[in-house]
Amino acid sequence: MNLLEFQERFADEDSCEWYLIQLRWPDGYVCETCGSKEAWYMSARRSYECRHCNHQRSITAETMFQASHTSLREWFLALYLVTESKKGISVLQLAHHLGMKDSRRAARMKKRIQQAMTARNERYLLQGFVELDEAVFIENGEHATVLAAVSVEEETGHPKYVRFQVVENMKAATLESAAVSVIDPSSDIATDAHPSHNRLGEHFNEHISCKQEKPSDAAQYLPWVHLLISNAKRFINGTHHAVNHLQGYMEEFSWRFNRRFCDLFQQILVASISYKPAYRLQ
Ligand SMILES: [Zn+2]
Repeated sequence: MNLLEFQERFADEDSCEWYLIQLRWPDGYVCETCGSKEAWYMSARRSYECRHCNHQRSITAETMFQASHTSLREWFLALYLVTESKKGISVLQLAHHLGMKDSRRAARMKKRIQQAMTARNERYLLQGFVELDEAVFIENGEHATVLAAVSVEEETGHPKYVRFQVVENMKAATLESAAVSVIDPSSDIATDAHPSHNRLGEHFNEHISCKQEKPSDAAQYLPWVHLLISNAKRFINGTHHAVNHLQGYMEEFSWRFNRRFCDLFQQILVASISYKPAYRLQ
């Protein structure tokens, strides 16, 4: 969808509300208390009221948009801009496009969008043949270690899915628990011969340790994880500059890569209705 089509489709608050209602209740609204399908829609309150038991339910309750003073139209535009820009969009660019003088609100929206992406990423563990390595990124001007893992299609040799996890240190126990949090135990994993990887085989079906003669060998033995690490660095350094919440950006990069063959705007709308934030957004 191009920007003109987006603006025509989501021209006002009403069209965003109706879109959200159809996404949440494709077979029609049903009262969660009594199961009745007869309800009035109260536009001023963005809520349904059941004709039988009078139970009221906000259409944004238990979604990314709940407890937010931001209009749905602004939210939808933010989701469109975040997903349609090939390299992602910075907080300052987002604030500029939404006409916000204070970029802090754009920063809070961006963070919530990344949290919805994180919730989707966390539903899946990598499976099959998985390349694993660590890399150094910059967070708040300091070095941060990130565990990277990429599942590879065995027939074609192409990458399937990626996950990243920021870790405290390079100790074996730290890396093992990070690896277990993103990779299914049935997987076969390949790593370099760093001593911190020695016990990984205890957690997975098989551990292949690739002994490297020189650092450039890594790209040969573990090509996809290295490529995705450099792509992630380009995504973060190129668009976002100094990031203060690295994990959120790693999740955004992974979410986009893992859905590279999908309509990302549609995907983020689906994510937005299944993610329930735990805090209010001003
Ligand atoms: Zn009811």
